[in-house]
Amino acid sequence: QYYLDRMTRFDGALNAFITPTPELALAAATQADQRLAAGERGPLLGIPYAHKDIFCTAGVRTTCASKMLGDWVAPYDATVHQKLSTAGAVMLGKTNMDEFAMGSSNENSAFGAVKNPWDHAAVPGGSSGGSAAAVAARLVPVATGTDTGGSIRQPAAYCGITGIKPTYGRVSRFGMIAYASSLDQGGVLAGSAEDCALMLQAMAGHDPRDSTSANQPVPDYVTELDQPLVGLRLGVPRQWFTAGLDSVVAARIETAIAELESMGAQRVDIDLPDAELALAAYYLIAPAEASSNLSRFDGVRFGYRCAEPRDLNDLYERSRSEGFGEEVQRRILIGTYALSAGYYDAFYGRAQKARRQIAANFEAAFRDCDVIAGPVAPTVAFDLGAHVSDPATMYLEDIYTIPVNLAGLPGMSVPVGFSGSRPVGMQLIGSPFTEGRLLAVAHQYQ
Ligand code: GLN
Repeated sequence: QYYLDRMTRFDGALNAFITPTPELALAAATQADQRLAAGERGPLLGIPYAHKDIFCTAGVRTTCASKMLGDWVAPYDATVHQKLSTAGAVMLGKTNMDEFAMGSSNENSAFGAVKNPWDHAAVPGGSSGGSAAAVAARLVPVATGTDTGGSIRQPAAYCGITGIKPTYGRVSRFGMIAYASSLDQGGVLAGSAEDCALMLQAMAGHDPRDSTSANQPVPDYVTELDQPLVGLRLGVPRQWFTAGLDSVVAARIETAIAELESMGAQRVDIDLPDAELALAAYYLIAPAEASSNLSRFDGVRFGYRCAEPRDLNDLYERSRSEGFGEEVQRRILIGTYALSAGYYDAFYGRAQKARRQIAANFEAAFRDCDVIAGPVAPTVAFDLGAHVSDPATMYLEDIYTIPVNLAGLPGMSVPVGFSGSRPVGMQLIGSPFTEGRLLAVAHQYQ
């Protein structure tokens, strides 16, 4: 009730929620009470949370912030939703996001932009901007998000909270609406690394309904939080602290690294080349996969349908032109072009080679260090409207987050202070399935 009251008071200004579900929440809370009264115990039993509106929830609409799915109700639950319900977590609603998770500012939403709770003139980041704003404004203690190229880490950084994108395949993608399937990964935004650990514990695990889901046991993330940091080799990429990085952001991260050193970590300067290659590769691979994934929204099977189509082509054309927003259409066009006959080798094939190179660069770096520390984004949260007319500048926001998705690695965002009224985040990156160690570094820093 405390959180629902805050939602009523503050979300009018923030617009973090697309679909609040107060009645369902109160019913779920009553159920959790009964389970508690019956002697059941569990870290999430009765804990309120919000879902990014990309996770399918039977009975509650799932819009992906698109007119295309404006009133669509999924006939089944995402595995993540099922797992959180089993754990007794109480959903308070579905949060705003960039349409189909395409964006870095939450301005590409058919349900309107979200405001940064720290400074209403600033964006909350994206695409999980609603989840980040809701947690930062204490409308919920924790929220789910997805991260294809930075969509958990960057909004977490902009909103001054903690976020984790696990290793690709750690969390099931079943029922999580696909953007770029080889990059998409679900994760958590929360007030602390400890809360991230508790949530991830419940969300992670093998799922036979997702063929890319990792068949590996889930460790006890909460126990791992206290593993010693003494001797931990903290890699700091030289190429990431150059002219493109805001000087205040750089200074806050350097201070945080020095603090980790004072706790026993050992700083190692490393090389992580080819950042520009990663950006170019991502903005071919992600739209290519998106153009294929989004072909299912044809106006016939489900979702938005235009009025009075003249024939089948008119139905497809107008349903998709009217149902999808501008950025989504841009990505579909880029992807379709990159995949078309005659261009495949020149664009998609080369992007895949660049992707392998990025992964190899990380493998080489992890021979010299255990965890990489660096920026999440080149700047703090920018002003609403600042980049809307220039998608290429917006894409530059993702320069430090995208390489991590291309290599399938786990990454975190940890708040390390402010630049004026706007929060600064530090990114921690690990080798595959070292979420426990990342959470431990963040937890002990906090
Ligand atoms: N900003 C990136 C994009 O627009 C990443 C989005 C995401 O991680 N879903 O594709």
